[in-house]
Amino acid sequence: MHDTVAIDPARLQALLQRERAHFGRHHPRSVALSAQAQQHYVFGVPLHWMRDWPTPASLFVQHARGADLTCVDGHGYADFCLGDTGAMFGHSPEPVAAAVAEQACRGLTCMLPDERSAQVGQWLAERFGLPRWQLAMTASDANRFVIRWARAITARPYLVVFDGCYHGAVDDTLVDRDPAGAGSVRRPSVLGQVHAHHAYTRVVPFNDLEALHDALADGQVAAVLAEPALTNFGLVPPQPGFWDTAQALCQRHGTLLVLDETHTLSTGVGGWARTHGLTPDLWVAGKAVAGGVPCAVYGCTDEVAARMQHAKDTAPPGHSGIGTTLTANALALAALHAALHHLHTPATYAAMQASADALEHGLRQRLQARTLPWTLTRLGARMELQFTPATPRNADDVRRHLQPALEESLHLTLLNRGVVLTPFHGMMLCSPATGTSHVQRLLQAFDDWLDALL
Ligand code: PMP
Repeated sequence: MHDTVAIDPARLQALLQRERAHFGRHHPRSVALSAQAQQHYVFGVPLHWMRDWPTPASLFVQHARGADLTCVDGHGYADFCLGDTGAMFGHSPEPVAAAVAEQACRGLTCMLPDERSAQVGQWLAERFGLPRWQLAMTASDANRFVIRWARAITARPYLVVFDGCYHGAVDDTLVDRDPAGAGSVRRPSVLGQVHAHHAYTRVVPFNDLEALHDALADGQVAAVLAEPALTNFGLVPPQPGFWDTAQALCQRHGTLLVLDETHTLSTGVGGWARTHGLTPDLWVAGKAVAGGVPCAVYGCTDEVAARMQHAKDTAPPGHSGIGTTLTANALALAALHAALHHLHTPATYAAMQASADALEHGLRQRLQARTLPWTLTRLGARMELQFTPATPRNADDVRRHLQPALEESLHLTLLNRGVVLTPFHGMMLCSPATGTSHVQRLLQAFDDWLDALL
């Protein structure tokens, strides 16, 4: 089979123009609010990422519930973006919404543990398999803190990450491989950084055990920080056996293995590592972990916990650089308590997987029917359509096949037909509230897009 599909550029541009005009015609209120917000927001939105969608004006949300989103113009959408995973368990999951509502009048933040904290700690250990825990506000925070702990307890300076990684607004990880040599460089898109934050981060191609071995060999690496599968640069799964050997390499060189499961929590109850029997030294999750309320967690082994305790006990008194004032506030605790009890369960995941099965089946049928040389990569409730003829092994495989205009046309066409996908890539995520009608709407819109394109 050919490994690319010939897409007429003029036809693609015409499609894009048509869909942009369609959006403008059908979203007068979003267009008006965009103009109004432009007056007092830099970039016209509360967070500049909100302009990274392909719509000519921002889509303003009226409300979101379950797998459905309604915009201010009254259109309904089947939401497969789900807040880029923050709402993986559905928007406002009922037990979390109830717990937050109840807590809202009983104190929002006291900088003290509340009566649920002990139970939450026990459930974290049971669900995610590591005995000792700390909380953070966001996954970015959790990763920053974990990197500090890793360097503090190993007294080693270096961090290893994989090429194409994303672990949040964490300077040490916003690093690329140096295209001109073997070292690393600051990711060119990073703004306002004067420190050479790449100097202590080594970047290795994913699935490359030899490169990982070389990066660890001098015994100066505190931690390997990784997603079990790359989910932020396409979806790149680990090759069979990769993690067993990678973990053995870490152990041989005294390097901590830290897994960031913020996205791979979609794999199954407890995340990828739990599902596949991998036992990291530290483990991080944010976004959906408390049902979409700002909260993140990191867990560790008893051994790492003892070393953390020792580092803290022997440090001079004062600021540790770890933690923020609102961390583990009462609302976050209430949400996490409800989420651990009601959402991180086999029943929830069974519903997510069932919808993902139907979606995967429908998409594969369509790719086959038109002999399209594209791949669909699945990670539990999450899947990614990639314009590559074979499942990518690393970020370079993804880079070679990026087609931004094609992707934009997919996103816009679907959005105009009541289906929301995550910007930046072809990711589709199924929540427990995602049902047959949502899947059917996506497949129908996908057919329309293929018809228009080919
Ligand atoms: N880790 C991973 C794997 C992520 O995908 C992200 C966000 N996309 C983060 C951490 C950071 O999450 P947040 O922006 O909520 O801090």
